[in-house]
Amino acid sequence: MSNQRLQLTEEQRALIGTVQNLARDKNWRTNSIKFLDGTFPAENLRELAKIGVLGMSVPEEYGGSSLPLFDTVLVIEEIAKHCYTTAMGVMSSVGTQTRVISKYAPESLKREILPKVCTGEVNLAIGMTEPHAGTDVPNYKTNTVIKENCAVVNGVKTLISKVDDAEWFVVFTRINGAPGRDGIGCVLVNRNTPGFEVTARYHTMGGEFLGEIQFNNVEVPLENVILREGAFKKLLSAFNTQRCLNPSVSLGMAEAAFEEAINYVRQRTIRGNPIADFQGIQWKLAEMYRDIEAGRALLYQAALSADPFPNPQQAAVAKMYVNEMAIRVSSEALQVHGGYGFTDDYPISRIYRGVRYGTLGGGAVEALKDLVGKKLVKDFDPVEGFHSMGTF
Ligand SMILES: Cc1cc2nc3c(=O)[nH]c(=O)nc-3n(C[C@H](O)[C@H](O)[C@H](O)COP(=O)(O)OP(=O)(O)OC[C@H]3O[C@@H](n4cnc5c(N)ncnc54)[C@H](O)[C@@H]3O)c2cc1C
Repeated sequence: MSNQRLQLTEEQRALIGTVQNLARDKNWRTNSIKFLDGTFPAENLRELAKIGVLGMSVPEEYGGSSLPLFDTVLVIEEIAKHCYTTAMGVMSSVGTQTRVISKYAPESLKREILPKVCTGEVNLAIGMTEPHAGTDVPNYKTNTVIKENCAVVNGVKTLISKVDDAEWFVVFTRINGAPGRDGIGCVLVNRNTPGFEVTARYHTMGGEFLGEIQFNNVEVPLENVILREGAFKKLLSAFNTQRCLNPSVSLGMAEAAFEEAINYVRQRTIRGNPIADFQGIQWKLAEMYRDIEAGRALLYQAALSADPFPNPQQAAVAKMYVNEMAIRVSSEALQVHGGYGFTDDYPISRIYRGVRYGTLGGGAVEALKDLVGKKLVKDFDPVEGFHSMGTF
């Protein structure tokens, strides 16, 4: 039996170290509280653009570094350890929207958009969710009619991140009214196009604003229709990367919560002794550490399967475990802070608010459990056992 274990390369360690130094030098964790009012972390993103982070998933010919998904996961995990809002800001430069454009957009749009994503001059957003249907993708109503010289988009998208900061929107839309999931393609819309309007803004418990957008006869050039009906599987494959990137935010935040907890229990005393001496506290730490390590293993394995998109099953399992684990771990970390943990003066309360996002975005965990459960019922072979799922 081979004795292989996952070891990071020198390049990967250097990359994480650079991000870590930047975040520590600028004290991002303590300062992250200032983004609770919805302020966009523009300065942090500018710093990250300078060291190449925003171009991680952009091909080299457009100014990026086209790093493997695994490296991107490592970097987002590190950023999320210091600042939830910044990690979420980076996600839109390295996530599904960038990958869809890099892979499927025509050359002219790639040249126009992607170099500016790398420098942070252009932010991207993704428009999937509609007011009546989020998980319920086959019931999306937004529709694009293809005409002779242009395409016309009508519909409403909601809960959209970066609604005020993004210039380009990657919009999941029905094409020519084609029905069901397979009728959905993808259109690129610039926010300055007539008929594009932000119609509502929601302030979230994570701090950021999400928005509603209406498309009223928005006319775009035909080349902006980057995926037609029948290409939904391609969209879904690109979306699978989100199932690794979203939990990398959760994982980083769970690790930050653990760091905050261990610092606090070593310092806080009861009857003259650090509370770290209590067995009850040590058991909490042991369980938190166990769960973080299990989550890391699942997520890294899923990210390493990417070629270029991750194995859907592994990514779904990693996402549902890591998202739920991070909520549990940050709740326990807050608990060991006592009442101070509930105040804005300790980073743990900030972490606890942001980490709640994980199970909701990037594929709600209940929908993923459905997907994995169905696959197990169909394919798990009790004679061959766990090897029948092909993971190891
Ligand atoms: C911080 C944040 C950022 C976001 N950013 C974006 C963005 O940029 N772009 C975008 O398009 N959307 C975005 N969203 C929206 C997000 O993608 C949706 O909220 C998500 O897809 C769930 O859709 P929904 O809210 O309509 O809930 P619904 O789909 O209505 O689900 C309601 C509940 O039912 C559960 N459920 C679903 N299927 C099943 C099932 N089979 N069995 C049991 N229960 C089930 C869900 O898990 C959920 O708990 C964001 C959300 C958040 C919180």
